[in-house]
Amino acid sequence: MIPVAEPSIGRKELKYVTDAVKSGWVSSIGKYIDEFEQSFARYCGVKYALSTSNGTVALHLALVSLGIGKNDEVVVPALTFIATANAVTYTGAKVVLVDSHPGCWCIDPGKIEKAITSRTKAIIPVHLYGHSADMDPIIKIAKKYNLYVIEDAAEAHGAEYKKKKVGGIGDVGVFSFYGNKIITTGEGGMIVTNNKKVVEKANMLKNHGMDPQKKYWHSVVGYNYRMTNIQAALGLAQLKRINSLIERRRKLAMLYNLYLSDIDGITLPPEESWAKNVCWLYSILIDESKFKVDRNGLIAKLFAKGIDSRPFFYSMHTLPPYKKNICFPVAQRLSNEGINLPSSPNLSIRDVEYICHTIHQIGNHARE
Ligand SMILES: *Cc1c(COP(=O)(O)O)cnc(C)c1O
Repeated sequence: MIPVAEPSIGRKELKYVTDAVKSGWVSSIGKYIDEFEQSFARYCGVKYALSTSNGTVALHLALVSLGIGKNDEVVVPALTFIATANAVTYTGAKVVLVDSHPGCWCIDPGKIEKAITSRTKAIIPVHLYGHSADMDPIIKIAKKYNLYVIEDAAEAHGAEYKKKKVGGIGDVGVFSFYGNKIITTGEGGMIVTNNKKVVEKANMLKNHGMDPQKKYWHSVVGYNYRMTNIQAALGLAQLKRINSLIERRRKLAMLYNLYLSDIDGITLPPEESWAKNVCWLYSILIDESKFKVDRNGLIAKLFAKGIDSRPFFYSMHTLPPYKKNICFPVAQRLSNEGINLPSSPNLSIRDVEYICHTIHQIGNHARE
């Protein structure tokens, strides 16, 4: 079976993780934590980076550190992984959904203002499947209404918006290092920001709310959201290889594009003129009326040929916790038509050729 995602673990990863274990610094203090945070901040072009135990709690920590909670509202794209919305819900704030843009598949800046009320405190653009959201108009709206911008960059390490790395564009950026992400620590996450106050508050909260100057003095109810030194060792080794990992993903995506561009009913992944797509998951749309097999049919037929794939996320407004009888037509269409094909940097050129050949056959067969 060709998997949808698979981490690339090399010799450096084994060396650093072994060193971390042997050192005895197996918990959340150690040199790899410091070096991973500092290197990641430098990579994103920001002053501060703070590691966490996963991406979801990084989002939660960012929201709480910005003072967001009960009676507040936060704007979130309808089409995202549910963790974006859940992190808002954990704070007691209300999730307000906004439709996607048909071009870049991320939140549609033209539809944000209608969703803003006197209670809105923040916007969370998500850089979906490795492609940046259109940040300039989002930041313009945020300035106009005095809102925070928290970038959910969990799927887009190294992706660029107008030559700037995502995560460092808004007030706070959040990353995930889950096993299928661009780089991994097994489970893990990171907050990046230039705001000293926010990072200090987040650091206090993630460590049981303990006063950094006064041991065992807790002035608030905090959390244990810490990453371990072993995870950071894995992350640092991955970060040292990130450029080649991204270039490999982009090369495989270009190959996919080349082979799939001439098929009726297939829309290739976006790359706006202002974006560098890091192709987290190679994603296409299937127009059933032209391709003749629908998205779910294609997934089943690929599976029978030893190729795993995934449907796009459901639009949040169709899921029980966020059910809304409003229509989000673009998110709905992307969710119905979208499929993620195998995207691991471990794939060979021949794997991609086989996958594309199989898609050609399925399309041709269906038309006969
Ligand atoms: C993966 C992901 C998260 C959550 O990250 P975890 O590390 O799995 O908690 C949040 N937002 C988006 C868009 C994601 O893809």
